[in-house]
Amino acid sequence: MDTTRRKIIQSIAAAGAASAVSSIASLADGIPQPDPLTNNGTVPQPERNGLGGTDPGPRDVLLDEQNPDLLAPPPTDAGSVPNLKWPFSLSHNRLAPAGWARETTTKELPVSTEMAGVDMRLNPGAIRELHWHPVGEWGFVTVGSIQITCLDAGGRMFVDNLNQGDLWFFPEAYPHSLQAFGGPGSEFILVFMDGDYSENDTFLLSDAFAHLPKDILAKNFRVPVSEVSNLASPSQRYIYPGQVPPTNVRVPEPYGKPPKAFGYHMSNNKPTFQNEAGTIHIVDSSSFPVTGASLALVTVNPGHMREIHWHANDEWQYYLQGQARLTAFASSGTAATFDYQAGDVGYVPSNYIHYAENTGNTPLQFMEVFRSPTISNFSLAQWMGVAPPWLVQGNLNVSQAFMNKLPKTIPWIV
Ligand code: MN
Ligand code: MN
Repeated sequence: MDTTRRKIIQSIAAAGAASAVSSIASLADGIPQPDPLTNNGTVPQPERNGLGGTDPGPRDVLLDEQNPDLLAPPPTDAGSVPNLKWPFSLSHNRLAPAGWARETTTKELPVSTEMAGVDMRLNPGAIRELHWHPVGEWGFVTVGSIQITCLDAGGRMFVDNLNQGDLWFFPEAYPHSLQAFGGPGSEFILVFMDGDYSENDTFLLSDAFAHLPKDILAKNFRVPVSEVSNLASPSQRYIYPGQVPPTNVRVPEPYGKPPKAFGYHMSNNKPTFQNEAGTIHIVDSSSFPVTGASLALVTVNPGHMREIHWHANDEWQYYLQGQARLTAFASSGTAATFDYQAGDVGYVPSNYIHYAENTGNTPLQFMEVFRSPTISNFSLAQWMGVAPPWLVQGNLNVSQAFMNKLPKTIPWIV
């Protein structure tokens, strides 16, 4: 061991001994210390309403702090409810030469049978190669801007430029591509219309060329075999570097323009619903005819919540800003409460009653995505507000004052 290294190790050992001595000394001095085994300290404990006990560890305190309602559930939680939370940070990432992609399928979140999600990054100018797949793809730009292309089933090419807050839909089998513009490049969320579907199983142009006989390719494209013998390497290009594309792209139109746009400029829109508690943007097939998915982009101001409701379809959520608490009631006396932060995926099966409460000091923003061209939303309060009053009053034994508060229209956010 050289002298310098020995000196460093000696000094580290000395510092450790000194800090141990000082903490013993401060206890001896009677200075109050936060007890990590009680809620008087800063560490959350699995105790609530007189139940539970401290967790002496080992424990992952950072995860406990992010999930206080798993650690110490409210007394209304009961029974076994499927896990409804998956942070993209726990997904395995796929690093590519000009970006990355990570996914949440039924492997990560078993309950998410109707939809799978992808968080993808394209560096400035980067290209997600020409490809297609057997499930519809819904997309939402979270950072920067992007150029999309899609060929429809009538041989008509669609090209559009999308900004943060815009979205797209590519029906199953329709070939398409994505390319980031400059500046920050782009990051976006994809939702596939099948929870088992993996981003790693798409049909890639480069992969197809690598696996068709060279003489067949030559015959198909009416070129000598030498023209197809030096194909791009590696055989899957996937996400590769490119030059920032022009914004004004002209493409041949032998069959005219596509009758339906595959991009939707939601960032230009006013909210569908707005009150002092927040806003909701709804995009469905009435405004975006090509879509096989529908969206509610929800912003909830501090102190407010997305009201208690349910849907006829499973709901795939992505949290964009802030933090939330959500309880899912799953029938038969079972319910579970989850906490979400920006970057988390949430999933609520159809019919499960739920809400999303802003538990932070900043706006909560999340998206509700449904594998359906339109949203079916049932408001608990509005249902009770328009039902014959004796049914509600007798059913729940509530007061006339309670009845007088029931809304006749859907509150959305309260
Ligand atoms: Mn795709
Ligand atoms: Mn919902």
